[in-house]
Amino acid sequence: MKREGMPPLDPEMRDALRLEVQTSSPKEREAYEREVEGVYHDFLAKWGEFVKEPIPKQEIANRFIGTDDETLQQHIYPDWFRAGDRVQAMHAMTDMVRKTVFMERMTQEEAAELWHSAREDVRERVREANGYADDADAVRRLRESTDRNTIAHEIAHLMQDNTLPHWFMEMGARWYGRQAEFMKAEHLLEGSIQRTLADHYDALLDEHGDLVHRMYFGSKSKRTFKRFEKKFAAECKALSDAFSELGSA
Ligand SMILES: [Zn+2]
Repeated sequence: MKREGMPPLDPEMRDALRLEVQTSSPKEREAYEREVEGVYHDFLAKWGEFVKEPIPKQEIANRFIGTDDETLQQHIYPDWFRAGDRVQAMHAMTDMVRKTVFMERMTQEEAAELWHSAREDVRERVREANGYADDADAVRRLRESTDRNTIAHEIAHLMQDNTLPHWFMEMGARWYGRQAEFMKAEHLLEGSIQRTLADHYDALLDEHGDLVHRMYFGSKSKRTFKRFEKKFAAECKALSDAFSELGSA
């Protein structure tokens, strides 16, 4: 079966959606759009050759809507959140039907909290490796790099072959996000789920090379992935189990 093409942007629907959920000011919106375009540029320069259906450059910023956690829960995915107590803040989510990313940028306070939650020796190592002048500088840069990671993560989801298993898609998105962050930093502060998932994808790439990128971004048929899954059944099963255990979304 042929994959569906990228749905085109409908300007009127987009405006209506923005009215409903966009919480950023016009000035913030402008800065955010530049940030998204910058990451998109780096992303395609690095992995564009593997992508079957790249999002056109003039559309990418419009595919991201800056919102906040509260709005995300109330307006976009109320059913998800009504199902039970929210366990973690959602910072970004890609709506695969509308091919739209809803994203809450990290606030200054959250970045400071994240920075100060790391152990002193880890902070020291990150500060030195990246040449951060002081804590304030580190917090500012950490905020930028976390946004960069999130944007690249969601760009990966926007362009992924959506027919492949969830574990593969999410491991990949974690890896592309982390690599985008590495383009600007030597040493990252990262959570254990993020690290584990990205490391698993890294191991897949080590072993199978660019084929992994090609499958991820739909340049290979679904059959290729099926064959891959069959040939490396034990490996795929182990990764899929590891993914379920982490309970990552
Ligand atoms: Zn994801």
